[in-house]
Amino acid sequence: MDMHADENGRALSEAAFEIAQWIILAAYIDDDINDRIVFRLIVSPRFMAAITPIGAGFDVKVSTGAVSAIVDVIARIAATNSLDDFISADSRQELGINDEETAWDFVFVAAMIFLALHEAGHCVGGHLSLLVGPRMSPKNLSFSENERRIITALAEAANDMSLTPLDISRMMEFEADGMAADLIYTDFLKILGTFEDHVPTGSPPSGKCRVELIRLCTLAMTIVLGLIERYRLESTRSGPSLHPLPLGRMLNIVGRRLQMLQRNTLHRNEEDAAIVVDVEDPEELIDIARDAFWLMMVVDKALGKPVFNPLSDELVTATESGFISDLQAYMSGSAPNRTEAGTELSELATRAGPYLRHLKTFRLCDFWRLQDGKVDTQR
Ligand SMILES: [Zn+2]
Repeated sequence: MDMHADENGRALSEAAFEIAQWIILAAYIDDDINDRIVFRLIVSPRFMAAITPIGAGFDVKVSTGAVSAIVDVIARIAATNSLDDFISADSRQELGINDEETAWDFVFVAAMIFLALHEAGHCVGGHLSLLVGPRMSPKNLSFSENERRIITALAEAANDMSLTPLDISRMMEFEADGMAADLIYTDFLKILGTFEDHVPTGSPPSGKCRVELIRLCTLAMTIVLGLIERYRLESTRSGPSLHPLPLGRMLNIVGRRLQMLQRNTLHRNEEDAAIVVDVEDPEELIDIARDAFWLMMVVDKALGKPVFNPLSDELVTATESGFISDLQAYMSGSAPNRTEAGTELSELATRAGPYLRHLKTFRLCDFWRLQDGKVDTQR
């Protein structure tokens, strides 16, 4: 047995890739494009998710080290928190989840799906296609190993010298996170398909149950983002991060969740009527922001490193109120600027024009534009 991931972790990972690609992503892209992406679990102790472009295809490798790191963080959370803090006994009963292990397995699968959809986001978002331009040889490219070199070339290709390679890398990360979060928050019920005994039959789960499943998904994404940052802090590679600040990535993700709820409210979507949150109501928005912040604290504790928050209580309180204000700004269409992470997110957003224009021709799917239409036509 492999020391980095046990059999259950491996089996659930394979199931997660299958759901991410052929159940969730397949609803948004054509099969011939989807066929070009191959997800593989590889044996390596490092936390790794890497894409290698091969011809017109993408070889996405996720390490067994990533699997065991996620398993480990979930085990730490389960050891120090009650499952009831995340999903109520009522909801578990409604879903037919009778043992705690299955509920934590749901978090694990959601985390692996987020990881897979994030990497798929780089592929279909055109980030990798852009790199496999005429001037570069695909066989030499590995997104994880040669990131800096590749991204420098990308900045040159975008022909905008005001954008640094780091800016572009961080914009790509926000995009990949955003697509993955949008898809998960839209299709979180599909994740239940991993657990054959618990597929809800007949009517969809109650509103309360759906809200709690969404919350488990947010926890799963927080775990992945926390681990990526911890791995970066622990790695010997020097220099600034290629990723945005973790708090900003959470701002982006939670903002997506709220925008989705807002859309559903506006469209009076019947199916989601039960989980309508009035995001115009300041109290509801504050509750969701505060809860997301609490999830970050839980993950920080499990990681044994303050990845999202500073350590001192005073600073935590300031960061929490900054995060809430930034989320309010994000939702009202103004620039988040209360935290360093919020400022980074809004600065990148205002400067993304040339990058997005250049990227247009490389998109394999204009998910960001198509999303609403495609979802609507399916209903
Ligand atoms: Zn990425």
